[in-house]
Amino acid sequence: ATAARQSLKIGMLPADGIGREVLPAARAAIIALGSSIPKPEFIDLAAGFELFTKTGTALPDETVSILQNECDCALFGAVSSPSRKVVGYSSPIVALRKKMDLYANIRPVASVAATAGGKPDVDLVVIRENTECLYIKQETLQQGEFGKEARATRLITERASRRIGDMAFKTALSRPRKHVTIIHKSNVLSVTDGLFRETVRAVPALPEVNGRYDQITIAEQLVDSAVYRLFREPHIFDVMVAPNLYGDILSDAAAALVGSLGLVPSINAGDSFVMGEPVHGSAPDIAGQDIANPLAAMRSAALMLRHLGYGEGADRIEKAVDEVIREGNVLTPDLGGKSKTSEVVNEVVKRI
Ligand code: ATP
Ligand code: MG
Repeated sequence: ATAARQSLKIGMLPADGIGREVLPAARAAIIALGSSIPKPEFIDLAAGFELFTKTGTALPDETVSILQNECDCALFGAVSSPSRKVVGYSSPIVALRKKMDLYANIRPVASVAATAGGKPDVDLVVIRENTECLYIKQETLQQGEFGKEARATRLITERASRRIGDMAFKTALSRPRKHVTIIHKSNVLSVTDGLFRETVRAVPALPEVNGRYDQITIAEQLVDSAVYRLFREPHIFDVMVAPNLYGDILSDAAAALVGSLGLVPSINAGDSFVMGEPVHGSAPDIAGQDIANPLAAMRSAALMLRHLGYGEGADRIEKAVDEVIREGNVLTPDLGGKSKTSEVVNEVVKRI
């Protein structure tokens, strides 16, 4: 299907804060690829907390229907999270992941240079299940015999575990080390984590897989020891696959290993849609100053393109970003530099 595309329709959702400053950087990187990808068409779409404060909706129906009916893919900036619970508001990014069935959150974390105190030997991808686990938000609060009692329900299904497992093996296949580590805690949560572990482990033997994953080696780690080893010997990890909560925590921890949040990209992927999204938030403390690091957003554009089958374009963006980091002359303040967002963007675009 990718080969037949005449143009690439990309929904652009900058949303809040520095999301508005870094999404234009992603756009500039894609445009700089020229004719090596189908002609990009950018469709600006409204979403975000600020939109909610003005209009009472954080994710207009029109935005969702244009994404579903007209776009090939999308890029999301960042959404502000209100510090207190706001009546009627829920996060548009969480809603989008659900509505578009973007069941996998894929976060590659790799060291380029020893920037901002980053470790030199990190090259891994966290594949986080995006739709269930404790994030189904079924919580109750009751008065018990000795005071309040809060409970949360955790959902793990065979279907979601199987498809996230398949995504992990597929990702591993495209990487040199071809190694998958399953993260769980089935020594304590033998039913839920047990199902996740068993289901992911069984993926390579599925008849429809047809032996495609035979060359991939599989390991498992209890989540606590995985965090310990991630900090002590990050090089042992290639692809890590985890249920939603563990994956959330692990991927932020892994981001800390390579320096700045402003470097780490992600995609939210489903069977028929992909949305790029830098891992960082809206960073209200630095918004509007032209100092936000645009590299995570540019790398997110690259990941999105690779997922759609445009690996060569993705490589060009990633190589340009890596060069700018390695040279170290034009960097934003989070990486110890003095440059503006716009100067970093120009530097990367020049190299693409
Ligand atoms: P939100 O509620 O939207 O998540 P936040 O205050 O948690 O906002 P984050 O964006 O998650 O802020 O980032 C945490 C800190 O990391 C910020 O204070 C910011 O200074 C820094 N940071 C995050 N992203 C970037 C970036 N792209 N460039 C530079 N610094 C960043
Ligand atoms: Mg945050």
